[in-house]
Amino acid sequence: MTTKQNAVVVGAGIVGLAAARALAERGYRVHVFEKNTKAVGASIRNFGMVWPIGQPAGPLYERAMRSRQIWQSLCEQGKFWHAPAGSLQVAYRPDELQVLEEFRDGNTGKRNCSLLTATEALNCAPLLRQEGLLGALFSPDEMVVNPREAIQLLPDLLSEQYDITFHFGTAVTGIDNGTVYTGGEQYPAEQVIVCGGQEFESLYPEVFRQSPVTKCKLQMMRSSALPTPKQAEPAICGGLTLTHYSSFKECPSLPQLQQRIAQEYPEYVQWGIHVMCSRNGQNELVIGDSHEYGPVHDPFDRAEINRLILEYFNTFTNIPGLNIAQSWNGTYLKMTQGTELVAKPEEGVTIVNGLGGAGMSLSFGLLEEVVGGLEQ
Ligand SMILES: Cc1cc2nc3c(=O)[nH]c(=O)nc-3n(C[C@H](O)[C@H](O)[C@H](O)COP(=O)(O)OP(=O)(O)OC[C@H]3O[C@@H](n4cnc5c(N)ncnc54)[C@H](O)[C@@H]3O)c2cc1C
Repeated sequence: MTTKQNAVVVGAGIVGLAAARALAERGYRVHVFEKNTKAVGASIRNFGMVWPIGQPAGPLYERAMRSRQIWQSLCEQGKFWHAPAGSLQVAYRPDELQVLEEFRDGNTGKRNCSLLTATEALNCAPLLRQEGLLGALFSPDEMVVNPREAIQLLPDLLSEQYDITFHFGTAVTGIDNGTVYTGGEQYPAEQVIVCGGQEFESLYPEVFRQSPVTKCKLQMMRSSALPTPKQAEPAICGGLTLTHYSSFKECPSLPQLQQRIAQEYPEYVQWGIHVMCSRNGQNELVIGDSHEYGPVHDPFDRAEINRLILEYFNTFTNIPGLNIAQSWNGTYLKMTQGTELVAKPEEGVTIVNGLGGAGMSLSFGLLEEVVGGLEQ
């Protein structure tokens, strides 16, 4: 670009931050509008797991790996806490181990992952329960960030590095024919990217009404700081997680595992619970989560769901004196068909939303692709 064009981004969650970065990389002067005085949506309520292992081999895995590369570079530049220690999918039942073996075999040459013996897994993650552990799949690709820290600090880092201006506490109330309205002000923009997350009812509601989307509410918890020394261990997932991520769908014995889980854990299936955990820079464990789908959700947490999550967590970990310090919920927009919503409701406007449970893992890569396609 010889003279700078203006771009506007609506929303300063991870999708909006990734859009702002990608637009500025392409030479746009970018204004980001966030209606709250700081981002408080799904992007600060998650595990902070940047999670390529959840994506099937091919373009989605490549997108996740590109996102991870950008995350790592930003965390290093901004000196944000991050743990590029990989992930461990643990097996305490023969059918879980079989799925892990099939996953390893099906991904040979496509991604780096290996099966560990029980002893190797325990050395890697001493929080694991020893009794009954059969083995684990280790993947080095995964990284954990602290979303509460990273999402608050990224705006400053991005505006130091690029021509990006953030306007917090400023809601976008309308977009029309290359002009963005924020109540009292108006901004001309050659490109607008709308990244409003689950609050999509006011801008282009007709697009969402016509798209295959729903909302998903999740419950999670955080422990008090553990007394045991801090360790750069991989994030850990129990057997239920194998039934959650689409990357495991290729494993031939997954249907049998799903059947056994449906019989043994009907309440977990009812509340969409699978259990994973990561340790943050304050030596606290982040543990979750449940998945409830529908257009509107009860805003309150259910103690029953937290109890189920912790009971299952205790089947594969051994953490004496574990104390839960916080519980919360978050909501994201989820596609009922497809992996994300990228729509063009009018000339120069692109909506990017619906990344579901993979927004932290895919946004940076996806937004590079979306912005790369704007001028074609
Ligand atoms: C509990 C939980 C755990 C998760 N765990 C993970 C994980 O470990 N890894 C992973 O990859 N993903 C995870 N996710 C998913 C991930 O958090 C989401 O995909 C992602 O945060 C969605 O980002 P977003 O920017 O679309 O939405 P949000 O973070 O909700 O941001 C949207 C922003 O737009 C603003 N906005 C809306 N309308 C306007 C307007 N008109 N004007 C100005 N601003 C506006 C809102 O105020 C909000 O700040 C999890 C999600 C939850 C809830």
